[in-house]
This record gives sequence, structure tokens and C-alpha cells, in this order.
Amino acid sequence: MYDTLIIGSGPAGMTAGLYAARANLKVGIIEQGAPGGQMNNTSEIENYPGYDHISGPELSMKMHAPLEKFGVENIYGIVKSIEDAGKIKRVITEDATYEAKTIILATGAKNRALGVAGEEEFTSRGVSYCAVCDGAFFRNQDLLVVGGGDSAVEEAGYLTQFAKSVTIIHRRDELRAQKILQDRAFANEKIKFIWDSVVKEIKGNDIKVSGVTVENVKTGEISEHEFGGIFIYVGVDPVSKMVENLGITDEAGWVITDDHMKTSIPGIFAVGDVRKKELRQITTAVGDGAIAGQGVYQYIENMK
Ligand SMILES: Cc1cc2nc3c(=O)[nH]c(=O)nc-3n(C[C@H](O)[C@H](O)[C@H](O)COP(=O)(O)OP(=O)(O)OC[C@H]3O[C@@H](n4cnc5c(N)ncnc54)[C@H](O)[C@@H]3O)c2cc1C
Repeated sequence: MYDTLIIGSGPAGMTAGLYAARANLKVGIIEQGAPGGQMNNTSEIENYPGYDHISGPELSMKMHAPLEKFGVENIYGIVKSIEDAGKIKRVITEDATYEAKTIILATGAKNRALGVAGEEEFTSRGVSYCAVCDGAFFRNQDLLVVGGGDSAVEEAGYLTQFAKSVTIIHRRDELRAQKILQDRAFANEKIKFIWDSVVKEIKGNDIKVSGVTVENVKTGEISEHEFGGIFIYVGVDPVSKMVENLGITDEAGWVITDDHMKTSIPGIFAVGDVRKKELRQITTAVGDGAIAGQGVYQYIENMK
């Protein structure tokens, strides 16, 4: 029986684990991949206090290192569902069932698909959602980045170190990204823009992507463009399927909590990107994690 089981080892889950373990609780973190979550897909982080800039994988390792020292147990598993039996919660993975007094859901969010013809067919054959993972495969090629937010603009800049050119296509006539990221993109000679436009179809041959069909949303004009790779950053959706039967999410699947990270079910907390909230960043994820780590301690004290 764990005092708390944390699902997901991104910045939110790791921070919750640190706080709960330092409060002397028995803590397990169930993770389906490498610790770090979305940070592992992030090239450069320069808005995490204390670091001028640091790569996502490096920050992941630094956050994970102290967990062992405080006795947090790392458990590999893909969580399928959660059962609430009052004072006991059950976490069901593909091959085991774990019991805990409390649960902290820290499963984050995943990249949203564009939903156009050719996207699924050419995923991993020129279509990617992770510049850090795949960028180096596209040396000296013309690349397309779809989206206009922070991730799109930041990762477009990262891709210019490999690519011949990087074109950002955005459905509006201005970017949503932070001003500092925009300024850098506009100053980068390798970055071009296609404004007011959307990708209608991703095309390719037997082997890989060859280009896209684009529609200008203002004029309706259709055009064809050749690209060797396409990176998609058009937003995120919550990873919350495992709690969909618990009634703790809104209609889009974001988990609803109060300021203490408590869901409507006593003993079940949620932190980080999976929560319904304004700003999904590493700093806000670790803030949530700290509050929940302390919250489970108080919850367990009150059970006694
Ligand atoms: C390309 C990109 C660039 C970014 N750049 C920045 C930046 O510069 N600065 C910044 O502050 N933020 C940035 N972000 C956002 C930041 O990475 C996220 O806000 C943060 O990682 C959220 O942390 P989290 O712990 O809530 O979730 P995540 O980091 O998403 O971690 C969730 C974890 O849960 C695990 N998980 C999910 N489902 C299951 C399951 N069923 N069973 C077991 N494990 C599961 C996942 O494998 C994952 O490890 C960026 C994001 C992206 C995609």
C-alpha cells in the first residue's frame, strides 16, 4: 500500500514525488516512458528560473536525480484505469494493480493532430511532432512547421540548425508566440512564413513526404509546396482517458481541480498540463506538483 501513487513522471509528477517523499510518505511514480515527460521533446528551455538556458533532456535528468535519494519508487507501467474505493484507490496498469491511499494524476497533455489527409500515413515518414527527436534526420532540407504558438516558433528556430530553410505556416496573419520568440524568428534568415493559410493535405511517395497542399483562408486560393519534412505544433489535448469514468474532467477531458490540486474525489489530486488551467509550462507544473505533494501529506494526516 502506497501513501501516494503518482501517474506520470514529467515535471509535475516528479515535483509532487519530491515533496511527498520529503514528508516521509511512501511514494511510487508510475511512468510509461523516460522521466521528464514533454521536457524530453524540448530543445531549449530558457524560462525556467535558475538556468540561463538548458536542454529539456538535461533538465529532466536534474529533476529526476533527487527522487532516488528520498526513496521514491519508479514503477514502469501504462496506466489503463483508476478505481476509487473510498479510503483505498486502485491503479490498474496493463499488467498489475497497485493500491494507494491517494493518487496524483500527472499525465500531461499530448500534441494535437492536424487531422488532414496524409498525416497518419506519413507520420514517422517525414511528419513529426518532435523537432528534438527527429530534426537531425532532415539536414539540408526544406521543412514546414505548422502552428503559430510558442512551441511552433521555438522549434522552428531549433530546426534551422539542420535545415536549408524552415517555413512556418499559420492560419492567422500574426503569431501567437511570445514576443521574444517572434523577434528571433523574424530575424532568422532561414525562417519564412506562409500567413492566413492552412494545410489541406500532406502528400508523399512510397517512401516519404514530398509536400503539402495549402489553402489561403482569406482568398480561398489553393497552392502546392514541396517540403522534405513537416513538424506539427497545433496545440495539445489532455491525457486523461484513464479517468474518464470518474467524472472529474470537463467535456474536453481537462481535469478540474481547486487551488489545492484536489479533484472532486477525496484523495485524488491532479497536477500539471492535464489540469484545466491557463498556462501550461514547466514552472506551473512544478508549482502544482509542490502543492499536491504537500496536499497528500495533509490528507493522510487527516485520515488518522
Ligand atoms: C515542443 C515543446 C516545447 C516546450 N517548451 C517549453 C519551454 O521552453 N518552457 C516551458 O516552461 N514549457 C515548455 N513546454 C511545455 C512543458 O513541457 C509542459 O508544460 C510540461 O512538461 C508539463 O509537465 P507535466 O508534468 O504536467 O506533463 P508531461 O511533461 O506531459 O509529463 C506527463 C508524463 O505522464 C506520462 N504518462 C501519460 N500517460 C500515462 C499513462 N497512462 N501511464 C503512465 N504514464 C503516463 C507521460 O509518459 C509523461 O512522461 C514545451 C512543450 C513542448 C511540447
